[in-house]
Amino acid sequence: MQNRTHYIGRFAPSPSGPLHQGSLVAAMASYLDAKAHHGQWLVRIEDVDEGRSVPGAGEAMLALLRTLRMDWDGDVVWQSQRKLLYQEAAGKLGAHVYPCGCNRREIADSRLGTAPDGSAIYPGTCRHGLAPGKTMRSLRVRVPDMRVPDAAGCTASPATTANTDLITFTDRAAGRVAQHLATESGDFVLKRADGFWAYQLAVVVDDAQQGVTDIVRGADLIDSTPRQIYLQQLLGVPTPRYLHVPVVRNADGEKLSKQTGALAVAPDSEAQALGALQAAAAFLQLPLAPPGSISAFWQAAIPAWAKRFT
Ligand code: GLU
Repeated sequence: MQNRTHYIGRFAPSPSGPLHQGSLVAAMASYLDAKAHHGQWLVRIEDVDEGRSVPGAGEAMLALLRTLRMDWDGDVVWQSQRKLLYQEAAGKLGAHVYPCGCNRREIADSRLGTAPDGSAIYPGTCRHGLAPGKTMRSLRVRVPDMRVPDAAGCTASPATTANTDLITFTDRAAGRVAQHLATESGDFVLKRADGFWAYQLAVVVDDAQQGVTDIVRGADLIDSTPRQIYLQQLLGVPTPRYLHVPVVRNADGEKLSKQTGALAVAPDSEAQALGALQAAAAFLQLPLAPPGSISAFWQAAIPAWAKRFT
């Protein structure tokens, strides 16, 4: 097992509903990785999208983590209380940020296609100023243009801090990941039309401010990672290590979520809690003999994780 002297991990659920088996897998993976590295494990409630946050859901998630004996370090951070930090960070990005007056339909009509995460790629309409008659709806960050080789084979670099739109990183599970921001994301939203700060900005600001060294989360977020690394570069903060674990899907192949009707993990007894923990461990392919108690479960799960992932 690799013994890192400095490890800070985190679990960062969005409280849009109760914790389900899919979010338990993400919680368990980040918890076990932190424990296997003798590191700290933080919990951050990502209620930045206040329109989708369900009152009481964050508190219920914390109560469930306590029941499952997943004790976090330090105080829980709530994104809804950190808007000033996000505003400050957006201010630091200066000329990289611009107001955009386009609505969803106008962006979809440009038919540049969709980013890997399903969002429409922005055609850059407001890059050089709001078009006449348009008012600001959102704030976007400019990504570097694709570098085009000239006749001599040299690449012309656009006038941005980061001089290439290609972001690469090494995921501990997936290996090398590469994404061209210009063609696979486009200029992306930092502040949304509904006035809330976007997840992409909030997550980068919080991970940096909390000193997070290691991010372990579901593979549905691997396509967001290059945008987050780009923001880290612009803000001059370190890039953590990443490990994206498989996401739990239902019989129709959809990621478990409130929208796809995922059932809440709501154990009434220690036996039920153990059942949920064992199911999550089995999903993560951790070979464990049936443990007799929750503490015995963790005692066995930590070395099993260390063998498999560190
Ligand atoms: N809040 C995000 C979610 O629940 C996770 C963010 C992250 O781990 O970076 O999907």
